[in-house]
Amino acid sequence: MKAAIFRKHGGTDELEVAEVAQPVAQAGEVVLRVRAAALNHLDLWVRRGLPGIEIRLPHIGGSDIAGEVVEIGAGVEGVTEGARVVVNPGLWDGTCEWCMKGEHSLCVNYRIIGEHTDGGFAEYTAVPAANLAAIPDGFSFEEAAAVPLVFLTAWRALMTQARLRAGESILILGASGGAASASIQIAKLAGARVYAVTSSEEKAAQARALGADEVIDRTKEDFAKEVFKRTNRRGVDVVLENTGEETWEGSLRALARGGRLVTYGGTTGPNGNTNIPLLFWKQIQIIGSTMGTADEFATVMRLVWERRLRPVVDRVLPLDQIKEAHETLEAGEQFGKIVLTPQV
Ligand SMILES: [Zn+2]
Repeated sequence: MKAAIFRKHGGTDELEVAEVAQPVAQAGEVVLRVRAAALNHLDLWVRRGLPGIEIRLPHIGGSDIAGEVVEIGAGVEGVTEGARVVVNPGLWDGTCEWCMKGEHSLCVNYRIIGEHTDGGFAEYTAVPAANLAAIPDGFSFEEAAAVPLVFLTAWRALMTQARLRAGESILILGASGGAASASIQIAKLAGARVYAVTSSEEKAAQARALGADEVIDRTKEDFAKEVFKRTNRRGVDVVLENTGEETWEGSLRALARGGRLVTYGGTTGPNGNTNIPLLFWKQIQIIGSTMGTADEFATVMRLVWERRLRPVVDRVLPLDQIKEAHETLEAGEQFGKIVLTPQV
């Protein structure tokens, strides 16, 4: 089969489309004919190489997969050949202390499809049958593939970890990113007032179209000062962080008394300065979040099928343009998801 691979870690020049062996369904797995797979920042990190995470090379990326079931492994029940499905990208052992509590993304053996295993940037991929959700009629593979990782991440961060409530206010950084654009919608659904930080007029308009009440252009304004000004020096109840080092101090300053900062990433660097007196005096909480549980996945997928949350597809490209897809995401030129399709 054809797959987008890299044989060693590095820049986008390492990406190529090559012939590789087609996967076979192991016990508990199904093989999907991939119809659409979305790109995530994670794919960029994995291609460059993540310290402490060893992956088998050559590697096939792609955590967000939608396709048709073409082969069913031993012991799999309730799945039919030809079914249109989308995949929860999380993998967990089901046996550790945290799995027993249903906290799958805290599993001691938590892994992500397309990061620790071969993913969906290929004509076929093998995934656990337990990770499938059926795609209803009226939804395309491209729309479905744009959902899992970012909506799962955003839902857990906002609703489970930060416990966002109706009437509260939230600041969402990097609003053109996939999880951030999902977060704007989730925060509005939860009844919060949304302040979104973006970097251009065009992206500001897109953030507003998704429901952002206030948009701050970080290239023109200091976002923390602007939040203070626009909230009459109160600050916001929740900040959703994924940019890390460059924005960390500003994010803490933008919080109201008793506010919560929830982070699921650090794209500009891993070390943020925390003013400890600010932390205790304003009784601020710093909360981490990553991916989500099977239950959270089922919840966000249901909300998408009910059209209460909308997948945001920036563009659809053929798999052959994997390099262009990586470069576009790396340059931050997109708003929402870049989706690749193996057969065009
Ligand atoms: Zn576990």
